[in-house]
Amino acid sequence: MAELKFTSTRGNNNTATAAEAIIRGIAADGGLYVPTTWPERINNLEELADLSYQELAYQVMRLLLTDFTEDELRTCIANAYDEKFSTELIAPLTHKAGVHFLELYHGPTLAFKDMALTILPYLMKTAARKLDNNKEIVILTATSGDTGKAALEGFADVEGTQIIIFFPEHGVSEIQKRQMVTQTGDNTCVIGIEGNFDDAQSGVKAIFADEELNNKLNRAGKMFSSANSINIGRLIPQVVYYFSAYAQLCKNEDIECGDKVNFVVPTGNFGNILAGYYAMKMGLPVQKLICASNDNKVLYEFFETGIYDKNRPFVTTISPSMDILISSNLERLLYTIAAEDGTEVKGLMQSLNQTGRYEITGDMKEQLNVFYGNYASEEDTLHTIAEIFKETGYLMDTHTAVAYAVYQKYLHDTYDHTTTVVVSTASPFKFPRDVMRSLNERYAVVDEFKLVEEMAALLGGEAPKPIQGLADKEILHRSVCEKDQIKEAVEKRLGLS
Ligand SMILES: *Cc1c(COP(=O)(O)O)cnc(C)c1O
Repeated sequence: MAELKFTSTRGNNNTATAAEAIIRGIAADGGLYVPTTWPERINNLEELADLSYQELAYQVMRLLLTDFTEDELRTCIANAYDEKFSTELIAPLTHKAGVHFLELYHGPTLAFKDMALTILPYLMKTAARKLDNNKEIVILTATSGDTGKAALEGFADVEGTQIIIFFPEHGVSEIQKRQMVTQTGDNTCVIGIEGNFDDAQSGVKAIFADEELNNKLNRAGKMFSSANSINIGRLIPQVVYYFSAYAQLCKNEDIECGDKVNFVVPTGNFGNILAGYYAMKMGLPVQKLICASNDNKVLYEFFETGIYDKNRPFVTTISPSMDILISSNLERLLYTIAAEDGTEVKGLMQSLNQTGRYEITGDMKEQLNVFYGNYASEEDTLHTIAEIFKETGYLMDTHTAVAYAVYQKYLHDTYDHTTTVVVSTASPFKFPRDVMRSLNERYAVVDEFKLVEEMAALLGGEAPKPIQGLADKEILHRSVCEKDQIKEAVEKRLGLS
């Protein structure tokens, strides 16, 4: 198999191996790493139906991580997708309410970020060993709520690493916050910021681009990397579950193997849905990729008009992990639809930086046909949770409900009744207040930890293990900083100031 190389979306023509791209996190020119060619297509879809998740993961990831040996990759996979997940299927499909929910929330932190962040630390350690890198890796991460905990779980006490998380102090659910601030591990650091996710992400990206700080860090025997979906090591493991969903549909005879299917993806930073697009490029039969947004509907307008415009108020919604106005991974899609012209992408990103907007060309827009974008209001979202629960007994979290509500709009617009997978990104137990309040207003004022118990009772079972006892855990992280003090906070933590 020919070696697959990665290059920056912004046109410096340097290439990197997968190991180098994973270790660096982001390219030196501020661009994101993308494959220089598409890997071999996966044509034996029938055969995938009989594979375990782990075996399927190997078959997909080996095409993208060509510099990893079979043994290295299999070890990473075995360490990631084990009993940390509450089901052997890892990413099961549930057929309800006219769609197939791909439940990506059975991992240790109850959100889909676990699909990639359980394996990223192993990929990174393997990459470091391959490259004889003996620097300590400092993982800097901005989170809208779910990445933070999943990354902390993954990197806590991993030798040769430390991890610093920035989250919007007033922009995550109580459960999300408690999950993060109770994190153990001497190498972990969690800081709230007085700002939103975009502020956190911009602050972190600025640090990656800060040459002086990076040099100082280097002299101290350390280097930065990223656990955000700007890291290609986050994206690659996510391609797997699109194939897994498809394999399960074939196995259950819900489709004829080879039929196209739709995927509806609740979208924020565009990582999840981009992995679906990469799966399609690798041979997965896809009819539409339906991009679901909440009231922060920049992407919906982008797909409608070809104009990306972040100049608008940031709305805090009940689907906080999608409260994002700068969807980083869209840059990777731009690179593909710009015929891999990095100079073009660089220009668009400069425009975004300077004016908060850009417009793509007609040629580029034509290539977006596989995408459909729409959004769900807060009211639509709450209504969807309540209605589907009453009709079917299936309880969705707020993000999944945004996806389901957008799918209703899609059906209304297109009458396309192709078999559809709704990518379910979080457990309802992670957002108990808004999920329960959709069923009955009286829950609006009840303590979130009490609501976890009420929800468990409603569903006739126990709360998922990862949040049992969360209310009683010791709070270990209390730092809060201003949004323009992220750099100072990092220097302080690393003893560089
Ligand atoms: C992160 C997240 C999303 C958004 O995913 P992107 O890859 O950033 O588009 C959606 N739902 C939940 C629950 C999440 O944690």
